[in-house]
Amino acid sequence: MIRYALRCRDCGHGFDGWFRSSADFEAQGARKLLACPVCEGHGVEKALMSPAVAAAPERVPRTGGAVTSAPAGEAAELYRQLQEMARKVRAEGHYVGAGFAEEARRIHYGEAEGRQIFGEASGQEVRGLLEEGIAALPLPPLPEDKN
Ligand SMILES: [Zn+2]
Repeated sequence: MIRYALRCRDCGHGFDGWFRSSADFEAQGARKLLACPVCEGHGVEKALMSPAVAAAPERVPRTGGAVTSAPAGEAAELYRQLQEMARKVRAEGHYVGAGFAEEARRIHYGEAEGRQIFGEASGQEVRGLLEEGIAALPLPPLPEDKN
């Protein structure tokens, strides 16, 4: 059994799914047997993961003057920043597909050139990376991804 980190294209909900194989995942998707537990949409795909490899600390959010801490507003701002990061990663990063975990590991241990990569990883692979101290982040869906 393989565990995949999945994402709903419609509402952005992230969840895990178990499959017999990668082919099983494709088959279930093609037959619309996969559905988002939140909105029941069939636009379910493997979540794209990105490690924070070789990523310089980005701008710290600037706060000018008085700041009100409205939790909903903060969450929206954080989400906007994540989307910005995702856009940057997709534009400048190297897509490594299903080889993500392996490549992130090679970069981490200096066996490959340090660079920003993104690709697909299962929840199990991501846990393995995190346990080794390799940061991997789920990329949020982008508005332009939605049809
Ligand atoms: Zn959904």
